[in-house]
Amino acid sequence: QELQSRLLGRIRDVPDHPKPGVTFKDITPLLADPAAFGALTDTLAELCLRHGATKVVGLEARGFILAAPAAVRAGLGFVPVRKAGKLPGATLGQAYDLEYGSAEIEIHAEDLDPGDRVMVIDDVLATGGTAEASLSLIRRAGAGVAGVAVLMELSFLDGRQRLERSLSGAPLEVL
Ligand code: IMP
Repeated sequence: QELQSRLLGRIRDVPDHPKPGVTFKDITPLLADPAAFGALTDTLAELCLRHGATKVVGLEARGFILAAPAAVRAGLGFVPVRKAGKLPGATLGQAYDLEYGSAEIEIHAEDLDPGDRVMVIDDVLATGGTAEASLSLIRRAGAGVAGVAVLMELSFLDGRQRLERSLSGAPLEVL
């Protein structure tokens, strides 16, 4: 509880960003506070181990910042899920719907092994589309899902419901 309020107190609401009517959750004040960032890293690492993860996936771009130190702290490998066209090797891709239009993310499938159980980390769960697409990439790469961990959930966007089926019993952790 105390940790949660310390961390959430370091997240800034930015009105009308990136467009009018949207309130953007900005984690940069938290990242600039070494005690808060360290506590968050410890918490995420502990969640990975508690749920039996063997790899940590971070979602571009803010998910990278949270997932990479947590992976190191937990002694696990880090695998980036990137926007299409960025990864140089052989990729698996997954398209998904946005409010207007669609997007595609990719992974280097060779970085996951069939026995892996993957924890997916991002800053914000909004509609759940990005996280849902990442779970399908992980499963298509032949690995299992240990869970999804996010710092915050914009619950009015119902991302939890959208994710439920693709989690198929794996936990959604919101700090
Ligand atoms: P979703 O696919 O709709 O769940 O959107 C989640 C993605 O958008 C995540 O990668 C988030 O980093 C990003 N995102 C959406 N809303 C916010 C926000 O208010 N602050 C920071 N990131 C956001």
